[in-house]
Amino acid sequence: MDLKGQTALVTGAGKGIGRAVALKLASCGADVVINYAGSEEAAKKTAQDCESFGVKALCIKCDVSDEKQVEEMVKEAAGHFGGIDILVNNAGITKDNIILRMSEQDFDDVIAINLKGVFNCMKHVSKLMLKSRYGRIISISSVVGIRGNAGQVNYSASKAGVIGMTKSLAKELASKGITVNAVAPGMIETDMTGGMKQEARERMLSSIPCGSMGKAEDIAEAVCFFAGKKSGYITGQVLSVDGGMAV
Ligand code: NAP
Repeated sequence: MDLKGQTALVTGAGKGIGRAVALKLASCGADVVINYAGSEEAAKKTAQDCESFGVKALCIKCDVSDEKQVEEMVKEAAGHFGGIDILVNNAGITKDNIILRMSEQDFDDVIAINLKGVFNCMKHVSKLMLKSRYGRIISISSVVGIRGNAGQVNYSASKAGVIGMTKSLAKELASKGITVNAVAPGMIETDMTGGMKQEARERMLSSIPCGSMGKAEDIAEAVCFFAGKKSGYITGQVLSVDGGMAV
């Protein structure tokens, strides 16, 4: 995959899946914008590691749930690199609980970051992409957005919403050289799953046909596939990378 001369913006790229995606795109030659919300040191480390591939990296602090901040981030990134060719909507959180114990705040927070955050980034980055009539937008959904999961009504709603937005925006932008796709990870080893109780972990593991958790790099490979110039005839798709969980 050759992404030389292109610029990728990856949200939540300081750690976990976002970091692996940024590194993969950098290894293919793309300059990268490393977005973070709180983890400044981790973001700087990702940027440094990306630069070791001979590309340029820029860290930008921004809460993706705030449209004004996203507008500023996109302006800064485009000012620095001259445009954005690839957007990876990766930033996300969980606030799990059974519905009777889930507060309105926990519901709203997850929707604000996981769903509205994707909308904010899609809106402001696609404005730039429309001008250059080229773009690749890839959002990280989840197996939970496809199958649902007890204790995650907020998270599953946000991730199913990402799939709906992906399909709608794919139709809006298909004739403009811009593709819009999603990757739906299963259970991946990151901080997000690191805090799971042993019992829940074992229950989840038993539902994975491959028999093991995935790695952030597995997701990065799928994102990179959609990011390439050669994937231009693929849009509105959701690629499950989950060891067979969604089957
Ligand atoms: P993670 O290690 O907890 O990383 C989450 C990332 O999101 C962090 O870099 C964090 O940045 C960023 N973030 C959170 N709130 C943000 C905000 N308001 N604005 C900007 N960035 C924000 O989790 P992960 O497992 O890598 O998850 C990455 C994505 O994959 C998420 O969308 C998640 O839902 C999805 N996913 C994960 C799994 C899994 O099993 N791990 C499965 C399916 C889907 P800061 O640290 O700077 O706040």
